[in-house]
Amino acid sequence: MSVRCYIGLGSNQADPADQLKRACTALAALPQTQLVACSRLYCSAPMGPQDQPPYINAVALLNTQLPALALLDALQDIELNQGRQRKAERWGPRTLDLDILLYGDQHIHHDRLEVPHYHMHARAFVLYPLAELDPELILPDGTALQAWLEKCPAEGLTPLADQPAQG
Ligand code: ATP
Ligand code: MG
Ligand code: MG
Repeated sequence: MSVRCYIGLGSNQADPADQLKRACTALAALPQTQLVACSRLYCSAPMGPQDQPPYINAVALLNTQLPALALLDALQDIELNQGRQRKAERWGPRTLDLDILLYGDQHIHHDRLEVPHYHMHARAFVLYPLAELDPELILPDGTALQAWLEKCPAEGLTPLADQPAQG
């Protein structure tokens, strides 16, 4: 059975918009998975260290039959293929970050995987692209996405030209 799964994409290194386009191509090629939709690209101010370039972000919707941990492994492979280097500094610059935001309506608490993503409720660069894909979305705990949006101003978030990351 397929699960509707939302992935948060981010990059601020080595042509970030191209990184996200390549990532969408890689997501579409995952086994037992269909890439259903991808939001527009957004530009956002960095979290954490401020001495790094702005980020390009998007959210993708997948239908997947991969178990959640297998999906995480596959996403980390894509990150590594696109030059992601894991460093000690939290939220430092990266070529590609792929986070599992939602995996159906499941709550997952695992050493390697927390779903829903622990901080998505407070990240404009996640919530606004997510709302573009499904404005009526209800989160696994019953909260409406719109309720989170009302508490999360879009300050510092700019949609790029009306061009989807896909294709
Ligand atoms: P943040 O999670 O705050 O967005 P980050 O994306 O920069 O930070 P990473 O360095 O990409 O963090 O990932 C650190 C670890 O987080 C990964 O090795 C992974 O095991 C774990 N992790 C836990 N929950 C998730 C999730 N929902 N999606 C992706 N990785 C997750
Ligand atoms: Mg992240
Ligand atoms: Mg990550």
